[in-house]
Order: sequence, then C-alpha cells, then structure tokens
Amino acid sequence: MPKYIFVTGGVVSSLGKGIACASIGLLLKSRGLKVTLQKLDPYINVDPGTMSPYQHGEVYVTDDGAEADLDLGHYERFTGQTMTKDNNVTAGRVYYSVITKERQGDYLGATVQVVPHITDEIKRCITKLAARDGVDIVICEVGGTVGDIEGLPFLEAIRQLRNEVGPGNALNIHLTLVPYIRAADELKTKPTQHSVGKLREIGLQADVLLCRTERSFSESVRGKIAQFCNVQPEAVIQALDVRDVYEVPLLFSKQGLDDTILRMLNLTCPKQDPENWRVNVVERALNPKKKVTLAVVGKYIQHQDAYKSIYEALRHGGLAMDAQVDVQRIDSEQLLKEGVAERLKGIQGVLIPGGFGHRGIDGKLEAIRHAREKGIPFFGICLGMQCAVIEFARNVCDMKGAHSTEFDKDTPYPVISLLEEQQGVKALGGSMRLGACTCKLRPKTKAAAAYGKDEVQERHRHRYEFNNAYREQMEKAGMVVSGVFEPGNLVELLELKGHPWFVASQFHPEFRSRPDLPHPLFRAFVAAALKTPHARRSRSKTAKSA
Ligand code: GLN
Repeated sequence: MPKYIFVTGGVVSSLGKGIACASIGLLLKSRGLKVTLQKLDPYINVDPGTMSPYQHGEVYVTDDGAEADLDLGHYERFTGQTMTKDNNVTAGRVYYSVITKERQGDYLGATVQVVPHITDEIKRCITKLAARDGVDIVICEVGGTVGDIEGLPFLEAIRQLRNEVGPGNALNIHLTLVPYIRAADELKTKPTQHSVGKLREIGLQADVLLCRTERSFSESVRGKIAQFCNVQPEAVIQALDVRDVYEVPLLFSKQGLDDTILRMLNLTCPKQDPENWRVNVVERALNPKKKVTLAVVGKYIQHQDAYKSIYEALRHGGLAMDAQVDVQRIDSEQLLKEGVAERLKGIQGVLIPGGFGHRGIDGKLEAIRHAREKGIPFFGICLGMQCAVIEFARNVCDMKGAHSTEFDKDTPYPVISLLEEQQGVKALGGSMRLGACTCKLRPKTKAAAAYGKDEVQERHRHRYEFNNAYREQMEKAGMVVSGVFEPGNLVELLELKGHPWFVASQFHPEFRSRPDLPHPLFRAFVAAALKTPHARRSRSKTAKSA
C-alpha cells in the first residue's frame, strides 16, 4: 500500500517548501523507493497559466502539457521524475470538476458542500497519484501557510485521508521558521509553537518539523521545540541556510531525516546516501574552476522566480563545464536607455527567454543585434527565438517593419504569425501549443552537435510560429533551420551561419535540464561563452588591473 507524506508550511511563506519536498523526494529515491510528488495550490485559478509572472513566478510546463506551479520544476530537477497534469492540483480545478459533476446531475439531488464533496475530490486527486504503477510514497505539498482561509479544505482532506489510511501509513512534515532576534541574541521558538498549535486545531499533528533558521540551535532549543510541539527530538530538523540549494538534501540526510521518515512509515530500506548528487552536483557547484558572465535580457528580471528554470538550467550548463555562472539580469526596457554596448560590456553570452506582450521587445532586438554582429554567443528561447527572427528579417534581409503579428497585426512582413488552428482561439487558459513534441534535427548543425542525436523531445508553450513563407529568403541570407516538427512543418530551431554560437529554439529546453543531467543546449551555450574572444579580453583586462 502506498504511503503519504503531507508537507505544510507555517509562520511565513517563502521558506522553501518546494525545495524541502524535492530534497526529501531525492533522499527517499536514493533509498530505493519510487516516489512521486504533488503540489496542492489553494487558489481559484484552474492553473497558473493565466497568471502574471509578477504574481506567480514562472509557469512550469510538463511533458503532457500542463501549465503548472514552478515547484514541479524543483521536483523534476531533484528527483528526475517526470511530472504530469495530475501532479499539480489547484482549488480552482477541484471546484471546476465538482461543479461540472453537479451540472451533470452526478450528485443525485444532494446539497453540494465543501465537506464532503470538495474534500472528496481533493482526496481523489491525491489517491489517484498513489494508485500509479509501483508508487511507494506520495509527497504532497500544500501551498500557502497554515492559517490561510483557502487552505482549509485541503488540510481537512488530509486529516480525513490520514485517518482512512491509518497510523504508520501517512505523516505530516511541517516547515517552520525559528527566527533569530538580534536584540535578545536568541533564537525564538514561539512562532513554531503557534504554527504547530494552529495545525492541531485543524486536527493535524505534525510528526516532523523542518525548522528554517539562520543560526544552528542548541540541544536545549531542540528539546524545547520537541516538547512544546509534541514531536520527537530527532524529528526536529535544522534547515539552516546553505550556500547552494542543491546542498539541502545532504543537510537533511546528515541529520537522519530519511531514517526518521522511514521509521515513522514502518519502512525498512538499506542506508544509501545520494552519492551521485554529492559528487556530481554539490561538489561541482561549490568548487568551480572557471567563471563565465552571461546576460539574461527580459522584462521580468526583478522577479526572483520569473525565469526560474532558465537560471537553473544556466547553472547546470556551468556545472557541466566546471564553471560558475554569473548571471546578469538585464531589464530589456532599460537596455536602450542605458546603451546596449555599454550594458553588455564583458558579457560572454546573451540569453533572451520566453515572454508575452510588446513591452521590452525593442531592447531585446537590440541585444540580439549586438550579439549577432559582435559574435557573442546567443541563445534565444521561445519569444527569444521569435525576436531573433524579427531582428534578422529587419537588419539582414532588409524587411523594414518585419514583426510578429502578436505585436503588429499590420506588419508588412509577418515573419512570426499564428497558425490557422490558433486563429479562432479566444479562451486564454490551456489553449496554446503545450507540452512535448518531437523535433527532428538537421545533421552537422550546432544543435545536432550539442544533442548528439537526430531527434529530440522538447516542451512548448506558445501560440505564434515562424512563418514558413519567409523561410527560403532567410535561409538564403544565412539563417539555418536546424530543427523542425515534421508533422506540421514547424520551425523549432534556428542558427546562424558564420557565428560562433547563435542558436534559438521555439521550445523551452530549460524545463528538461537537471543538475545531474545538464541540458545539451545549455551546456553548449556555456561552453561557447567560455570560448569567446570577448571573454579573453575581459580576462586579460582584469589581469592587467590586478
Ligand atoms: N508570446 C509568444 C507566443 O505566444 C512566445 C511565448 C513564449 O515565449 N512562451 O508565441
């Protein structure tokens, strides 16, 4: 019978619940268990696909085309498991399905209520994952903080499920904060006591506490937390700040968290450290031999998480090359005011990520022009690729006013446009080209060299496409179509002849990159950036001034 680990958060948000769940997932996987993870989001949106990145951070995309919470990215990166639509459930989705059933008359005249109808639907979503082939443990993370009104139906569903599966088959892990109060020179346990008390009011007893703290605490503090919160002392784990998030699983394992969990769930699995992770991820991340400076030019750069998977994938490319990646986040709207050449000085590679809407496009076009003309490695992703096409059309093919019809419906050269099947689409939710598609690679291109294959699967999230009416003209001018989706004859990858490394993809490779399995294109991009003469110039300059 599959077991359940429910993870809740207390005191404040942003304590790193997603990373904690992903880390526990990795540890249990290393012990030989088949783990899956699920994020329960208490908001009413059916999925985060319609939310602004300023609100929600990145929208993560799965192979099966779910527009999902970015925590699924942590789950995939840490555990290597492939997430699906079922791994992220929102209150909106739960209500949508209950209301649909009600309209169909499925409730046979009953009054439809939060308990039992909404809670039953939540339980169904959780147990559906557990019923998957061979799953030993479902780690189920509840978004938000205990005490939030909208989280209540989820916690009630968990309370019921715990009771149904019985002792030894489910446990609660609570992530909390133990703040350091400078004036008193003390770590304070009261917020944790309150938060655990709040959980208890709802009928849930925390079994394990992950205490986020900036200072390690003494045995007496541990004892106090254990006693007042009703948990065993060895189940009070110190989640100290680490140098690199990829260290978190090792920090937990050192404190025996995996042993404690297995004991509480009556499971016996041989002790096994995540050795591969330690050697190939953490040690590499902490001991880089080189440094490379890259720019991400986008419009959501102030938001910590808007390009989460891009930043992670760049780091992975760095891990593969033993290089520390210094990412300069450049606001594409500001770029023109500051001057492109000035702002991109010392930059060894430019990446333009995905995005929507016209704001900031001109800055992106100028950054691309600079990278193309100066031979600086360039990586365009989704909107980044579309911008590369617009820039090339305007400045190389002399198509004045070339644009995407997303930004200029009357452009004389619609080099990026909607496919017919997208033209009638009005609904915003889940209506883009989403999820994994096969991309056939053209031999002897940079992409084929990077992948070392002739066919790959990559994830999509976009509406607009390269307009094939301009393909011949652009190819004659030096653009190389290095990857296509053959069934629809859609351009998936582009590069430029005669440029050290200029690659742009319509798909989002960042979603498939793992720290222990860096994505080939990110690896090749970082490798190219490390070789730029530009880089050598900036290095010798540093050497001189030293
Ligand atoms: N806005 C563009 C489109 O819909 C690009 C989307 C993206 O970058 N994810 O095609």
